[in-house]
Amino acid sequence: MHTIEPIARAVEAFASLPGIGPKTAQRLTFHLLRQPPETVQGLAEALVRMKESVHFCSVCGNVTDVEPCSICSSPSRDVSTICVVEDPLAVVTLEKTRVYKGLYHVLHGALDPLHGVGVEDLKIEELVRRVQAGGISEVILATNPNVEGDTTAGYLERRLLPLGVSITRLARGLPVGGDLEYTDEVTLARALEGRRAV
Ligand SMILES: [Zn+2]
Repeated sequence: MHTIEPIARAVEAFASLPGIGPKTAQRLTFHLLRQPPETVQGLAEALVRMKESVHFCSVCGNVTDVEPCSICSSPSRDVSTICVVEDPLAVVTLEKTRVYKGLYHVLHGALDPLHGVGVEDLKIEELVRRVQAGGISEVILATNPNVEGDTTAGYLERRLLPLGVSITRLARGLPVGGDLEYTDEVTLARALEGRRAV
């Protein structure tokens, strides 16, 4: 098949994204080819600017363009509670519930020994240090309801319990095997309110 190099490169770039297969990558590429140059320019610039200006909060690990992030520095948040999540997207979902008023800690993944993800690959020591620093009364473990999430929560329980904080987990009822970010807000709000001590 005759390939045009710049097109092939664009398709390849799209196909490297999560959830985008070769067919969709091709469709996106040819869609953009039909757009005016300024539309494509705007898309490219938005991506570059996002990458340049957004970083991870030094306190909680959430994505932010200010330091510390707007949640960590907000005077209206409950600073005695930390909700531990795997991914910045889970923060977005939890914020949408409007139920949770505490702080977050983003681990940036879950323990997955089979795929070589260990304690040192996640923001676990940072979490332990935050709790050790004092002032935290509750840590909510809101890892994803799957094997890796449960493994991670179990490990965190063992690490945090000796530090004298109350540790809770989201109530059951979340779709097993899924990610928090795909859970609807009502279900998540209910799981949060029904959280139980471990
Ligand atoms: Zn933060």
